[in-house]
Amino acid sequence: MIFRTHIAFAFLAGVFIYTYNLIDNWILFFLFLFIGAGFPDIDHSKSKFGRNVLSRIIGIFSKHRKIFHSLFFGTAVSYLFFLFDDDAGFGFFLGLVSHVVLDSLTKQGINFLYPFGKFNVNGFVKTGGLLETALFYFFAAAGIVLLLVMTSQSF
Ligand SMILES: [Zn+2]
Repeated sequence: MIFRTHIAFAFLAGVFIYTYNLIDNWILFFLFLFIGAGFPDIDHSKSKFGRNVLSRIIGIFSKHRKIFHSLFFGTAVSYLFFLFDDDAGFGFFLGLVSHVVLDSLTKQGINFLYPFGKFNVNGFVKTGGLLETALFYFFAAAGIVLLLVMTSQSF
């Protein structure tokens, strides 16, 4: 999936979390949510996050959708952010999980147990295709509607 779809889906997931009173610092939570949602594609030289020198270097060592799409690696990175601030760590973790779940709907798919085992899940969505565009608008609209409903109820 492309960057904007990951951001829209993470936004929807974040707004859903908003319905529960779990977060103290919402700005930090959403900031790290979006960072987490973009982070796994750092290994992809064509992605928004990957268009820099650092990721070119990372790309030599890590094939796309391997270690940076690993939930084990992602959980470890989230924990580091969690030590800094629990809202940041939780946001990053949710963003990362939302990214990996969304990528599992693509034809290329995701190995959820990488690098320790094999549990491949894939779908039928073509990355950047028409169906993904439809998903992007659906996630963005659902997120905005849900947010409006939530905020109108709390005032
Ligand atoms: Zn990805």
